[in-house]
Amino acid sequence: MATLKIENLTKTYPNGVKALNGINIEISNGMFGLLGPNGAGKSSLMRTLATLQEADTGSAFLDDIDILKNPTELRKVLGYLPQEFGVYPKITAYELLDHIAILKGISNGKKRKELVEYLLHKVNLYQQRHKSVKGFSGGMKQRVGIAQALVGSPKLIIVDEPTAGLDPGERNRFHNLLADVAEDVIIILSTHIVADVTELCSNMAIMNLGEMVYQGTPQNVIAELNGKVWEKIIERSEVDNYRKTHTVISDKMVAGKPLIHVLSDTNPGDGFNSVAPNLEDVFFTKIHVSSETKA
Ligand code: ADP
Repeated sequence: MATLKIENLTKTYPNGVKALNGINIEISNGMFGLLGPNGAGKSSLMRTLATLQEADTGSAFLDDIDILKNPTELRKVLGYLPQEFGVYPKITAYELLDHIAILKGISNGKKRKELVEYLLHKVNLYQQRHKSVKGFSGGMKQRVGIAQALVGSPKLIIVDEPTAGLDPGERNRFHNLLADVAEDVIIILSTHIVADVTELCSNMAIMNLGEMVYQGTPQNVIAELNGKVWEKIIERSEVDNYRKTHTVISDKMVAGKPLIHVLSDTNPGDGFNSVAPNLEDVFFTKIHVSSETKA
């Protein structure tokens, strides 16, 4: 059982943007969802944990490994799947994994072959192992990405915005693969897609403007909103007005008309119906509240 402990992590970029503003968080084995809108600071946090950039202050430990002071140690037990998984033009899936395994210090040829073949089976790409990765679909590339992140028995796997660009079938397969792997390691899944977290993660955090605005289980945070979310289908021309008079946490189109969700402790009347809150409501509520208090 590994534990990742982050304390008071801050990072201000040279242009003055405070991307991490005192982050505290503790994460154990399993899938952890880090949810936040674009610009929240997720990638800054992921890159810091992946030892690709430095923080200004604070600490981050994976068990007894000091991530900030001893990046080399961390890299031995880290698997990282970045947003853009770039590959060399002609390399095959087999060659790529073999190459990563060499970089990670697996020098015994027989062991390396066994490992690469095992991983290719695991991500269901064995049949295509001698094909160029460049020609793979988005989902297949992501599976190669996961396979390379698994080389060397990592304790911590960081996956940054993984499902952007995947079709629903590919996304499902990718989710299953992650869930399968997550039993033995810490996987942090950073995403702006609420459904990724709902489907996969037993623990989560919501980030906005460089701060953690929630940490816990999806169930608990959803329970906080019980009885407080109301929905109504309105006309498109009415959206702005409703925004002025109600706390609108989301609007989406249903059969061509906006369906709005508003937050209210009491029944707003006026044709609103009570609705069971979902994680998307939570996400928009937390973002809304934290942005309002900062503004
Ligand atoms: P997210 O991954 O949640 O979209 P990021 O960590 O990429 O968030 O960005 C957080 C904030 O920091 C944003 O305002 C972004 O514009 C800014 N930012 C990110 N990287 C840099 C950088 N290298 N230099 C300056 N500002 C940056």
